[in-house]
Amino acid sequence: MINVDFHIHSMYSGGTSGNMEIPVIAEQSKFKGLNTIGSGDCLNKHWLDHFVSSVNKIDEGTFEHKSGIRFILTTEVEDQRRVHHVIIFPSLSAVEEFRYKIKDKSPNLDTDGRCNINLCGDELLDIVTGLDGLIGPSHAFTPWTSMYKEYDSLEDCYKTKNIPFLELGLSADTNMADCISELKDVTFMTNSDAHSPWPHRIGREFNRLKVKDNNYDEIVKAIKRRGGNEFVLNVGIDPDLGKYHMTACTRCYKKYSMEKAIETKNRCSCGGLIKKGVVERVKELCDQEVTHPPHRPKYIKTIPLAEILVQSIGLSSVNAKKVQDMWKLLVQSFKNEINVLIVTPREEIEKVAGEKVAQAIVDFREGNIYIEPGGGGMYGKVHLIKKDKNQSSLDGFL
Ligand SMILES: [Zn+2]
Ligand SMILES: [Zn+2]
Repeated sequence: MINVDFHIHSMYSGGTSGNMEIPVIAEQSKFKGLNTIGSGDCLNKHWLDHFVSSVNKIDEGTFEHKSGIRFILTTEVEDQRRVHHVIIFPSLSAVEEFRYKIKDKSPNLDTDGRCNINLCGDELLDIVTGLDGLIGPSHAFTPWTSMYKEYDSLEDCYKTKNIPFLELGLSADTNMADCISELKDVTFMTNSDAHSPWPHRIGREFNRLKVKDNNYDEIVKAIKRRGGNEFVLNVGIDPDLGKYHMTACTRCYKKYSMEKAIETKNRCSCGGLIKKGVVERVKELCDQEVTHPPHRPKYIKTIPLAEILVQSIGLSSVNAKKVQDMWKLLVQSFKNEINVLIVTPREEIEKVAGEKVAQAIVDFREGNIYIEPGGGGMYGKVHLIKKDKNQSSLDGFL
């Protein structure tokens, strides 16, 4: 079993932390309990140079940092309809060949980590398939740059239904996406899309894969569900925490019902633009009761440990030094974040971190939390308050 996060960004992508360098990414990933990470931004030559000089080659598509963390070659691109795709490459030569084929179509190939390519989804698919790579939609339901904000089906975007994977994005989970019948054969990915290496970002979502070895070929087999390889878990943050979960104003973050948004022509009372939430978009696309195909793994909803610590320590920010110090103490004591969140007994946590923190982690495990949903670009907020159990966002929509 390996834990894999396929989608991160380097320091060369817009809005990312200058700390997104391989040694820092590898160290933080280890604390998170990850085994393998997508390189992110592998089309960018500056990042690729840094990457190649920071890792050892295991085989054509697999690389290893001295910490033991493995990498495969991945990137995200934005197509000419502003749709984001995750691409996975089998080798450095395939990356080079892809760069060559699209260089006249991309104005920012080496100036941005996530480049724009003036091609459509089906044209990208043709090139990627020709190089033996894989492509699928990133954060498939979000309102600005996703496949489903632009199209109503996989076929509209790629001219085929035969797409190996789809990234759910932070604001959606398996229960939501399995209301859409065309996705029954698609492997769902839960990836962090991290722009900073800090604990509440990198590995905040990941996939657990059953493979015979930790390498590119075996990982691809798991995506395609061949030879007994498969995804056995999707671990994602509670979709309510996603920043596009609900329909809301992108300026003041006031939440709106779809009816009200239509009535005001998507203008908030503050003058800001209202953006359709992932919940609403999934409702529009939904054409069946929630039906999980037999291959669909369990989806575990989690919350970054740092968010729980913020609540228990009573500080306002995950970046506060006290929170970061406590996070580090816990993950170093119990090897990684997954152990702290799910496995380690309360008494042991209490010995290291005190009663308040231990209670907060137990409250999370028992679901005694209230999440104020996100929307309009603002993440949801965690509250460790005993309230009536949160109703699922999709309750009663069919
Ligand atoms: Zn994206
Ligand atoms: Zn507003």
